[in-house]
Amino acid sequence: MSLLNEILDYNEKFVEEKHYEEFITTNLPDKRIVILTCMDTRLLELLPKAMNFKNGDVKIVKSAGAIINHPFGGIMRSLFVAVYELKADEIYIIGHHDCGMAKVKPEGIIEKMKERGIEDNTIEQMKFSGVNLDEWLKGFDNVSDSVRHSVDMVRHHPLMDKTVPVHGLVIDPKTGKLDVVVDGNINENR
Ligand SMILES: [Zn+2]
Repeated sequence: MSLLNEILDYNEKFVEEKHYEEFITTNLPDKRIVILTCMDTRLLELLPKAMNFKNGDVKIVKSAGAIINHPFGGIMRSLFVAVYELKADEIYIIGHHDCGMAKVKPEGIIEKMKERGIEDNTIEQMKFSGVNLDEWLKGFDNVSDSVRHSVDMVRHHPLMDKTVPVHGLVIDPKTGKLDVVVDGNINENR
């Protein structure tokens, strides 16, 4: 049985037996918070539990490394929608220790693309079309610096409401311990 079929079988029972009932809530975040964090598998349940969030409490946006790599890309747009349309009054950017994006090397990803059949030609064409692959694929050296950089990008974005606090934190993917990098409530630059 394929994984998809396994999931669909399970899903049928889930719906039939009404296991969804305990998750019913609205589409607005009860705690009026939007979080940007990493897609790391260890954070899937750990992060909400370590912060005392249940279904319906918060909006969560995810990206590799909790990185916002473009001021007008999809991640930034999601944060704006959360703030302006979905009643989030605070933004939390949460990186984590031992993040895969701290180890990612653009040349390594490009090498793997080639091994899987992407032509050299295609990679070259990207460069001629103005896509800087090295810049686009790069990770970070230090998670706190990366979080601080993202906080600055959000806070100083020309379209962001300056009264919205933007916090920066780093979570331990094993224990769930949070360390504050930027407290958006006491930052003098707001
Ligand atoms: Zn990560």
